Amino acid sequence: RGEGDLEALQHGDVARLLPEPTGESDKYRRGVVGIVAGSARYPGAAVLAVAGALRGGAGAVRYVGPAAGAVVSRFPETLVSEGAPGKAGRVQAWVAGPGLGDDASGLADVLGAEVPVLIDADGLRLADPEAVRGRAAPTLLTPHAGEAAALLGVAREEVEAERLAAVRELADRFSATVLLKGSTTLVAGGRGEGAGRLARVNSTGTAWLATAGSGDVLSGLCGSLLAAGLGALDAGSVGAYLHGLAARRVSGGAPVVAQDVAGGIAGAWGDVRHGL
Ligand code: AMP
Ligand code: MG
Repeated sequence: RGEGDLEALQHGDVARLLPEPTGESDKYRRGVVGIVAGSARYPGAAVLAVAGALRGGAGAVRYVGPAAGAVVSRFPETLVSEGAPGKAGRVQAWVAGPGLGDDASGLADVLGAEVPVLIDADGLRLADPEAVRGRAAPTLLTPHAGEAAALLGVAREEVEAERLAAVRELADRFSATVLLKGSTTLVAGGRGEGAGRLARVNSTGTAWLATAGSGDVLSGLCGSLLAAGLGALDAGSVGAYLHGLAARRVSGGAPVVAQDVAGGIAGAWGDVRHGL
């Protein structure tokens, strides 16, 4: 455990928090993740977020957006919904933002949903801050330092100099759980989770994670954990733990690409389960 109120999850903590299907499970009870991501310009972000969600144990992944062709050709397991997210079928958690470009059209529906929501990447810039603050269900924001700086209206260097203060300030301002990405990942609790005071640090990753698309995989993975019923602080910190471990495992000190990280989640999950 870390000092004070900054704690680091250990293998055993993560093992206890991982969802585990039982004989009574069906795909809906395991959790359906809705993904609002991708654009004509960035279809790959949608593919990688879906990859993270599928590998994160979702019973099903529902995709809403313009990259359905790319998503289904890579992952035929994906359910595709036409039209607005609010018209999609049953969803237990939404992930919105990766690769949206300037298309904010699905965000209002997602923010109005009564289920947990994760907002990442372009979604952080496009979402109405009042709509985020006003949500009743858990909300997880997953900025990197640049995105966090834009949300706070300060220079990136200021965030990097005071990362813990920055992530807590964001959690307070948005009344949300906030996961700040970087060489270590900090997660500050939102409403009902110590309101920014309770925070966790994760250092399972590797600098090889600094590669295009790795954050999109993380957002899908954390979305699956939210859909399985983990609270936002747990979903963020368990997601970061598995994502970092997956990357380190598949890298072995060599470069990785984001889809390898998604592919490594199963092995990381198994290592955690078996205490390796
Ligand atoms: P994004 O910035 O959205 O592409 O996400 C990048 C992912 O890589 C996040 O999970 C970061 O925590 C991780 N990451 C970036 N740089 C490093 C680093 N130097 N060491 C470890 N992890 C990193
Ligand atoms: Mg990103």
